[in-house]
Amino acid sequence: MGNNGKSVAVIGAGASGLMASWQAASLGARVVLFEKQRMIGRKLRATGNGRCNITNRNIDVSFYHGRNPRFVRNVFARFGLDETVAFFRGIGIPLVELESGRMYPASLQAASVTRIFEYELQRLGVDVRLHRRVERIDPHEGALRLTTAGQEREDFEAVILAAGGCAYPQLGASRSGYELASMLGHTVHEPFPSILPINITLKALHRLEGIKRDCTVSVMRSGRLADRSSGELLFTKYGISGPAALEVSRTVNESLESGEAPDIVIDFFPDMDTDELGSLLSELWSDVERPVALSLDGVLRDRLGETLVKIAGVDPAVPVKGLSVRQKTDIAGALKGLRLKPGAPRAFNEAVVAAGGVDVGELNPVSLESRILKGLHITGELLDIDGDSGGYNLQFAWSTGALAGIAASS
Ligand SMILES: Cc1cc2nc3c(=O)[nH]c(=O)nc-3n(C[C@H](O)[C@H](O)[C@H](O)COP(=O)(O)OP(=O)(O)OC[C@H]3O[C@@H](n4cnc5c(N)ncnc54)[C@H](O)[C@@H]3O)c2cc1C
Repeated sequence: MGNNGKSVAVIGAGASGLMASWQAASLGARVVLFEKQRMIGRKLRATGNGRCNITNRNIDVSFYHGRNPRFVRNVFARFGLDETVAFFRGIGIPLVELESGRMYPASLQAASVTRIFEYELQRLGVDVRLHRRVERIDPHEGALRLTTAGQEREDFEAVILAAGGCAYPQLGASRSGYELASMLGHTVHEPFPSILPINITLKALHRLEGIKRDCTVSVMRSGRLADRSSGELLFTKYGISGPAALEVSRTVNESLESGEAPDIVIDFFPDMDTDELGSLLSELWSDVERPVALSLDGVLRDRLGETLVKIAGVDPAVPVKGLSVRQKTDIAGALKGLRLKPGAPRAFNEAVVAAGGVDVGELNPVSLESRILKGLHITGELLDIDGDSGGYNLQFAWSTGALAGIAASS
């Protein structure tokens, strides 16, 4: 342990707190890491399906959201992708790049990342205290006093609050960090779940449970396009999931949160324009005796055609010759732009990340130090910044943790 270094407390042994502890200790600070769970990096072990998608080659501010996503640019200017890749290589974790720029430890195992952090923190003399939930942070005689649930008290020159967001409570996530930040006077924007499946109110759609198809999903707010994603869509017994749904879930939940009722529009034929789909349908409908649902079976699997015909208000058993022009238009409309209403957001226990959190305007992006309470730094998912799927959330946790650790130790 660095003897004469500054005393730094880190709250939370997740991605951000582990990085902060490492940086502060390696610069000579005396670091105590408080973790309320029985192990370090519990969520980290589950990331990237157990492979830990550490970062993304294409890191850019456009993959981040919140009230002030430009904050990310200032953070990455000082500790970005290159610094992160070099850091991991330096501790014996070279990264490899897999699909769409996603970077993983070469071991392809998240557990190897936590094992190496465990060793590194021990090597640097970090005092890791498990089963310690910090309940209070109070200014006390020029220092910051931490109080744990067990009523232990200790004073530090700097405190790094890296307690994470409230997504995935099954892995121990809670609202504890938001509570600590707001007790100290910080503004906390109400967290809402992001990167999760979407409830759809239309019951007829729930019959499609288990069906997958490449679609384009658009989100319309007040008649204007707010978000769009193309890729695999998975129908479920309550609505939609799969990458295309997860990618637009933030926009949907953000508008629901602000009291709007957005529309979700699904294009089942994203590779064709309306005219091309029209020609295809004319061809499929050339056998006028065929029941309309069956006429679509060659292009839409399982019950998809039949269900969409029903949703368009047409009896699926009707032969093509019985369709009015209006009914044909309605069917084509359901195939190319099925308009649906989302239900209430699904719970945090399915969300990869919590959007919302501590207002970043109250922090210095160079040091992550609070402008409200000197010596307090706040990092990671707890902040009102969230990233898309693909390594962006961990990158933000590493970068903010590193800058806070460096600043707190000096
Ligand atoms: C299933 C899943 C998979 C994911 N996969 C990826 C991925 O592959 N790539 C990616 O970029 N992102 C991924 N994410 C998101 C990413 O894991 C988080 O954004 C990231 O872990 C946030 O880091 P953090 O350090 O801010 O918080 P966390 O990692 O959540 O760590 C916070 C820690 O603080 C502790 N704590 C909280 N309150 C207190 C307290 N009062 N006292 C003491 N300790 C406390 C918690 O127990 C926890 O250990 C995934 C998320 C989930 C749920």
